Amino acid sequence: MTLFDKLTQERRARLTAEQRLEQRTRERDQALAQIDAMRAELHSLRQRGRTSALEEAQRAAEVQTLQHRARAETETAQRHATQAERRLWDSINTIRDGFAVFNSQQELVIANQAYLGVFSGIPEVQIGITYRRLVEILVHEERVQVDAGSQDAWIAAMLARWDAEEIEPMLLTFTRGDTARIYDRRARGGDIVSLVRDITETQRHAAELDDARQRAEAANRAKSAFLANMSHEIRTPMNGVVGMAELLCDTSLSDEQRLYAETIRSSGEALLNIINDVLDFSKIEADKLTLHPEPFDLERCIHEVLILLQAGARKRRIDLLMDYDLFLPTRFMADPGRMRQVMTNLIGNAVKFTQNGHVLIRVVGLDEGAGACRVTVTVEDTGIGIAPEHIERIFGEFAQVDEQANRKFEGTGLGLAITRRLIELMGGQIWVESEFGKGSCFGFALTLPLAEAAAPFTHAPIRLEHVMAVDDNVINRTILERQLAAQGLRVTMVGSAQAALDLFAAGAGVDLLITDHEMPGLDGLDLVLKLRAAGHRVPVILLSSSPAVLRDHPGIGELRAILQKPLLRHDLVRQLHLLSAPDGQPPPRPVPRLTPAAAPAAAGRRMRILAAEDNRTNRLVFSKMIDGLAVDLTFAEDGLQAVEAFRDRKPDLIFMDISMPGMDGRAATREIRQMPGGAQVPIVALTAHAMAGDQDDILAAGLDHVMTKPLKKPLLMEMIQRYRPDEACPVAPPQERQA
Ligand code: ADP
Repeated sequence: MTLFDKLTQERRARLTAEQRLEQRTRERDQALAQIDAMRAELHSLRQRGRTSALEEAQRAAEVQTLQHRARAETETAQRHATQAERRLWDSINTIRDGFAVFNSQQELVIANQAYLGVFSGIPEVQIGITYRRLVEILVHEERVQVDAGSQDAWIAAMLARWDAEEIEPMLLTFTRGDTARIYDRRARGGDIVSLVRDITETQRHAAELDDARQRAEAANRAKSAFLANMSHEIRTPMNGVVGMAELLCDTSLSDEQRLYAETIRSSGEALLNIINDVLDFSKIEADKLTLHPEPFDLERCIHEVLILLQAGARKRRIDLLMDYDLFLPTRFMADPGRMRQVMTNLIGNAVKFTQNGHVLIRVVGLDEGAGACRVTVTVEDTGIGIAPEHIERIFGEFAQVDEQANRKFEGTGLGLAITRRLIELMGGQIWVESEFGKGSCFGFALTLPLAEAAAPFTHAPIRLEHVMAVDDNVINRTILERQLAAQGLRVTMVGSAQAALDLFAAGAGVDLLITDHEMPGLDGLDLVLKLRAAGHRVPVILLSSSPAVLRDHPGIGELRAILQKPLLRHDLVRQLHLLSAPDGQPPPRPVPRLTPAAAPAAAGRRMRILAAEDNRTNRLVFSKMIDGLAVDLTFAEDGLQAVEAFRDRKPDLIFMDISMPGMDGRAATREIRQMPGGAQVPIVALTAHAMAGDQDDILAAGLDHVMTKPLKKPLLMEMIQRYRPDEACPVAPPQERQA
């Protein structure tokens, strides 16, 4: 502290002067003693009559000289000491901070003008006054701001402060308008040195800064609101562009037309991704991104992302595989939208940067007790990999491995930065391991609270014993084998359709055959036809990454079910239960997940769907997306119509646009929930709004799910499949584009 340095320096000067004064005094005393001795000697000489007058005069002169010198030296030393002391005081008084020293009796020994200034006009305040009196005067003379009721307590606290070994600094606000921070230090011999630092200016600056910060925050909030509105405004027309382009691709087109339509669709989707990234990033920057945890199904979330990416992966013959820890629950508490975003980024990147091979998602977990699990998710690919020199900055903003090889991949370079921030916001860690040219593995670990267990779908025992499973992919075989074995089944795994045929020819007896569809050589459907031709009646479940393209295949009638790849454990186990007939009864015909629309109508009425949507283009997109499904679709153009349509038609499932003129989607939902049967009907919100918090509002209004526009056909299908009541006939897949 410069003030202390200054004080120390001046004190040192004063000490030197004092020491010199002491030395001179000692020398003078010695000289005086010498004079006395000489006088005594003179006297005795005189007595003895042996001293000459001359000698006597000489001695007297010497004595006088000594006396003069001693006096002069004493005066000089005194002058130095006074000067040093004056300098010390001048400097102490020039500083704006108050300075005082108290002795061990807590009496004021010295104080500068700044210190005494606060007590001006009080004669009692002088050197010698006690600290206690000073504190009392501060309060009683109203020199400090202390609440009327707490004056005694304040005095007691001020006195108690000085009892502590280390005296804590404290703030004082004086009634004359300034504020000070007081530092008290113990010094030698029980002294206390007190420094009163004026911080009025500092506080004014802090207040100005605070004001500026608040104004900046308000501006930021306005920016976020603007971004939210912009995103809504851009997304709504983009919904039409992407949706229509997607539908156009499903019609019969020339190669050139298809190229144009595909380009419109993929460019539209890329643009939407960029809008989302920029929006999210600006929210994270403004610390406005909050999580909204709710019960959600992690396995299903990954599955849905995989289904969306399936088409792109298929084109490049990449296998999308999922290995979900058998003993790990699937329902957790987390923000479903953000978890999906993380998974979409990591899996999307893996697919984007992989030309052939596989993308494998592994989920493992450990019970952490107290109803929570430590979940680790890894996304492994056999893609281009990342060179070690780039790996460090891969999670940074706008970071892209900027190489020729990478130029052909679109993206903003914001995805991983957002993913990292989201994982950190969820309290987890994210990492990457990669070998250039071989592949990458991104992983994250999170502690997730368990949600209440999902209701078990059946309690019936599985009565199958021996299952044969055919898949050319070794990882898939391993996953499938574990899943089947966990159900207590004896499993025979084979790597090709031919190997399976050979086993059957050799007399293998199994209760069920599960086969992959696309395999080199004979595919899964060829295998079924060959088995049937050889007279084997074994029930067959086909696993396919694109069930819709199989609809015209002659082998389809021979299948018990077609299950979507990657396989959800839930779907597999459900099929195993359906295939397990009660004792002594013939097995019921299992309900295939997908039935061709052209097939003779299955028993049961058609599922009733109500869609409330004010925008004509969006209605068109919606109706085209579910075109060909065995469902009855009714449209409502606003909330009021939706409520009426619900009363008249009693739909099995409602899709509800949120922003509609007149009665909006929230209000309509609240109305419906009050009506007979309205509490149970599943209602799925359709919204173009992507801001945090919107989802909460929507769910709070009584809707069951939120789907963001532009609509995705696979997710729409997923919802319809999920909520199809048992008494309704199966819905068929929409007409898929022929590859
Ligand atoms: P974007 O994919 O939009 O460019 P990201 O932040 O998601 O942005 O990824 C940043 C960069 O990290 C990518 O551009 C790519 O260079 C690299 N990267 C991400 N994932 C992988 C992967 N699985 N394999 C190889 N490189 C990857």
